[in-house]
Amino acid sequence: MRIVLLGAPGSGKGTQAARLQAKHGVPQVSSGDLLRDAVARKTDLGLQAKAVMESGQLVSDDIVLGLIRDRLSRPDAANGFILDGFPRNIDQANSLAALLNDIGQPLEAVLLLDVRKDLLLQRLAGRRICPKCGAVYNVMSMASGATGCTNDGAELYQRPDDKEEVIGKRLEVYEAQTRPLVEHYTKLGLLRAVAGEGELDDVFERMEAAALAKPVPAGKVTVRATQAKRAPLKTVAKAAQKSIKKSVKKGAKKVAAKAAKPAKKAAKKAAKKKVVRAKSTKKASKKTSKPVAAKKKKSKPVARKK
Ligand code: ADP
Repeated sequence: MRIVLLGAPGSGKGTQAARLQAKHGVPQVSSGDLLRDAVARKTDLGLQAKAVMESGQLVSDDIVLGLIRDRLSRPDAANGFILDGFPRNIDQANSLAALLNDIGQPLEAVLLLDVRKDLLLQRLAGRRICPKCGAVYNVMSMASGATGCTNDGAELYQRPDDKEEVIGKRLEVYEAQTRPLVEHYTKLGLLRAVAGEGELDDVFERMEAAALAKPVPAGKVTVRATQAKRAPLKTVAKAAQKSIKKSVKKGAKKVAAKAAKPAKKAAKKAAKKKVVRAKSTKKASKKTSKPVAAKKKKSKPVARKK
């Protein structure tokens, strides 16, 4: 499994990547986690990244690419990886393609998790995390008044970039810089849109189906396995769906044209024959021209079909 998870902040990439990792034994490689780890360890790189992350902007491509390159060179990534949060812009996508080409591990699919904006906001603003075990909660679904982790009782905290004033910036950055990747990967025939709303287990099922689906050549991508069960596919995914549909339509037209070719040829031949027959009959019976003229008239529409 060599896949990229694409989607807005709060779309559930991290949660689903962790589940895919647990079930399929392929490591989740999260650029956000790698960066947060560097920040926590106060490495040079972490110190550089901290303020940028807290403002909701993207950390420089060089820093992130370095982290990803190191991570992918570890032995556990030799049999595949689930990239979560990387790439986040076209330059990163191109760097990733070059890197994967170097190590002979090309991408198999890019899964786009689609979630409505109001739900994204709700998920991000309400997210609380346990500093001890990493469990993720949402204040909307927690017992009223609860502030501690149900696993270990540790006091939950809010990620600095989940503060309301930063969330808007992150979504804006996603739209401007990451969203173009939808078209990029659609053109490469790698994109598969997955409805990211509803029960976690249902989303996971759809993700798994999309991740394991056999690769199909560009222009013949099908999204049947990824159609929404409950949630309508909107915004970003709509664009992706549209261009996928277009390619499918194009493909279907080509097939239909090919199938129609022999019939067209036969019709052409028949029309030619009729015209020739009409001409020779005309020659043979120049004197009795009336019935022949009628025949000639009949052959015209067929000949025009050429
Ligand atoms: P989310 O996807 O919910 O925004 P992440 O944990 O993936 O959260 O990322 C948190 C922050 O880390 C981002 O807002 C950004 O500042 C930084 N970051 C993560 N991945 C990248 C990346 N590929 N390129 C640049 N910055 C990144």
